[in-house]
Amino acid sequence: MPADDAAASAAVRHRTQVGIVGAGPAGLFLSHLLARAGIDSIVLEDRSRDYVESRIRAGVLEQGSVDLLNAAGLGARMGREGLAHAGIEIRFEGRGHRIDFLALTGKAITVYGQHELVKDLIAARLAEGRPLHFDVSDVAVAGFDGDSPSIRYREDGETHEIACDFIAGCDGFHGICRPSVPAGVLALYERSYPFAWMGILAEAPPASKELIYAHHERGFALLSMRSPTLSRLYVQCGPEDDVAAWPDERIWDELQRRTATSDGAFRVPQGAVLQKGVTPMRSFVAEPMQCGRLFLAGDAAHIVPPTGAKGMNLAMADVHYLTQALVARYRSGSMDLLDGYSARCLRRVWKAQRFSWWMTTMLHRHPEDSPFDRRRQLAELDYLTGSEAAMRVLAENYVGLPLE
Ligand SMILES: Cc1cc2nc3c(=O)[nH]c(=O)nc-3n(C[C@H](O)[C@H](O)[C@H](O)COP(=O)(O)OP(=O)(O)OC[C@H]3O[C@@H](n4cnc5c(N)ncnc54)[C@H](O)[C@@H]3O)c2cc1C
Repeated sequence: MPADDAAASAAVRHRTQVGIVGAGPAGLFLSHLLARAGIDSIVLEDRSRDYVESRIRAGVLEQGSVDLLNAAGLGARMGREGLAHAGIEIRFEGRGHRIDFLALTGKAITVYGQHELVKDLIAARLAEGRPLHFDVSDVAVAGFDGDSPSIRYREDGETHEIACDFIAGCDGFHGICRPSVPAGVLALYERSYPFAWMGILAEAPPASKELIYAHHERGFALLSMRSPTLSRLYVQCGPEDDVAAWPDERIWDELQRRTATSDGAFRVPQGAVLQKGVTPMRSFVAEPMQCGRLFLAGDAAHIVPPTGAKGMNLAMADVHYLTQALVARYRSGSMDLLDGYSARCLRRVWKAQRFSWWMTTMLHRHPEDSPFDRRRQLAELDYLTGSEAAMRVLAENYVGLPLE
């Protein structure tokens, strides 16, 4: 028997309707929505449960994402512990300017840590006794260009193979699904930025009731929060900077300087630094977001710089559309929504790309900028904060464009 056939026959075999690679917000939320629609899935994750539940990342949910979570029966803890924010502050040249989302759009955002949402999603999945496998390895997808998609993986020393109708590639930017698409199928659009964010999670009360986005000649700073006692704080740093180059004192010093007000009254509350890390800045889109029976969702298909707080929300919108398409396929046999999945997602993805790029370029210091660029940047901030029309454009995008 050839070696490949021997390995295949040795595999423990499983069967499901949708095989999901990745237990981040996209994969977990998709599995939950599918279960509610009576569609079976198996979720594979190559990290431990503890790791994914403590991975500190995004924290802003658009109104549409909150509505989706509530409609899916996942809103209880978010409703109790999430912080509803009706606006943000843009601060530059020592002065703050509030952008009132509620007044401008009738909508708000909710601050709720991505890892808290992931905990809720995992708890819901396990409570229903549905398959979710952590710590798997050697995940490989195959057969999606024909009628017999399959996923192979290793778990507890054994090889497993899942036969499925469809594969959802929800395995993030560094996953294996997108690279498994044959060469020449995907067009990749990418932009990198000459800066990154040095971020900390600090045991300190938030500096303000709402997020503060600060533009300063020393660079950008963002004052955010995860709870009434935990602050999430960022300063613009070099793209190659390492955490070793940023001791806590340097981060606090830069935060204080970049967010200082002209009257000298403002101070960022300081506290123990619980976590520290670099968030890279990248804009990336893979088109189309599907190949045969493989569908990419979330960071596996697109990345935005975090300035516009869109990454997690885009992931949730993708799987909302993917669920609608899979439900249509299983209920009526129609492939129309599945065939149109990528185009439907990408219309929203590119608008979020545009907004995230605009927020990023407006608020950061660009190392190569000329004095003209600097003046233009300040004029843009002045215009934004002085024009109701301009503030409405920001507000409409920040709270999230409507889901179809
Ligand atoms: C370091 C970092 C910091 C971020 N910070 C912010 C922020 O501050 N603000 C903000 O708005 N957004 C932030 N984002 C973006 C936001 O967190 C993402 O957009 C969001 O996580 C997307 O969810 P996802 O489920 O698509 O992907 P992910 O959350 O990346 O989930 C993918 C999952 O797949 C798993 N996986 C990968 N490969 C395999 C494999 N081969 N087999 C099985 N499983 C696999 C991964 O372990 C992961 O659990 C950040 C992203 C990163 C990477």
